[in-house]
Amino acid sequence: MRGMDVLLASPRGFCAGVERAIEIVEKSLEVFGAPVYVWHEIVHNRHVVEALAAKGARFVESHDEVPDGAVLVFSAHGVSKAVVAEAQRRGLKRIDATCPLVTKVHLEAMRYHKLGYSLILIGHKGHPEVVGTMGQAPEGAIQLVQNVAEAAQIQVPHPDKAAFLTQTTLSVDEARDIVAALRGRFPAIQGPAKDDICYATQNRQNAIRGLAPKVDAVFVLGSPNSSNSSRLKELASTLGAKGYLVESAADIRPEWLDGVRRVGVTAGASAPEHLVQEVVRVLREKGGGQVEEMASTPEHVTFPLPPELQAAR
Ligand code: SF4
Repeated sequence: MRGMDVLLASPRGFCAGVERAIEIVEKSLEVFGAPVYVWHEIVHNRHVVEALAAKGARFVESHDEVPDGAVLVFSAHGVSKAVVAEAQRRGLKRIDATCPLVTKVHLEAMRYHKLGYSLILIGHKGHPEVVGTMGQAPEGAIQLVQNVAEAAQIQVPHPDKAAFLTQTTLSVDEARDIVAALRGRFPAIQGPAKDDICYATQNRQNAIRGLAPKVDAVFVLGSPNSSNSSRLKELASTLGAKGYLVESAADIRPEWLDGVRRVGVTAGASAPEHLVQEVVRVLREKGGGQVEEMASTPEHVTFPLPPELQAAR
């Protein structure tokens, strides 16, 4: 009897912003010594966070947890101006691991606010990237829209002078529909040509578009609080495969493989490759047949380290 084939999505896993953020924490530990404080999880992956914590990183959610004179790294998701200002006031050594593609959205938010636009952010309430982006302007200056229904309802102070921005890790399809709804409401609305969804989120979703119709189930490596990983799982399900978000091979339940002849594997932008390889190994043990890589868009993006850490590279 033929075994269960495994199709590996490509690209998958770490993006340039996540690689840079992890390297920033590691270099900070090397240069300044442990402990180094990190605002929020550096990236949304439990394994990454635990590995860095073991090396001396301390993950915090408030300034109260950071002692005077400490080194504070801002996570890849970015932080509000208020968080930066408080760190500055306290004289902390600040190192910014915000992904440059998130910083680009921050700069746009500041620019539109300065020009007096009614600003709308498309994103998920409470996600740290959304909190950080909304915190680039005074409270209440940026309104959040999470879905088409909210886009249909939103009232803005200047309907003829509105602008939108988006979270970088949204579903491409959902963002397109929300942007269309906003354009319908506010024909003069300004914003990016399409959205601010980053190359890594788009490429991983495109890879799943190619893979999901060919398999019965898709395992997405990623933590539940990882936005781009959750979107991959949802997309796989939309395309007819059963989507499962797993943090490691240990999460795979035997019954999920019942009747499955072909299984797809991918990873969100914050999930390390060794977790993918572990899943592949376990699937092969459970009767896997061929393992095939389905390559789509090649990625060659890299981001430089902040200047204060470049010498340590
Ligand atoms: S998912 Fe995109 S925006 Fe987020 S860190 Fe990676 S490249 Fe940057």
